Amino acid sequence: MRIDPVCKANLNEAEENNTTTDYKGKTYYFCCSSCREEFLKNPKKYVCNSWWQRFLQRLEKTNAEEYGSRGPSCH
Ligand SMILES: [Zn+2]
Repeated sequence: MRIDPVCKANLNEAEENNTTTDYKGKTYYFCCSSCREEFLKNPKKYVCNSWWQRFLQRLEKTNAEEYGSRGPSCH
């Protein structure tokens, strides 16, 4: 599923005319060019606010609390 990171709209993957942009090797999809412009003004804001980033950050924090800042280790 593609989600517009700015307005959180669900985008139809079959829709060929979605506006896209590449940021750090990842393609982001937008419902319209104004959302794309908004994203490009401050990509970090939207990338870091995604549920996936929040999930990773929480995971990192939990690992840090449990294993120390170096993370889990097999030794
Ligand atoms: Zn949008």
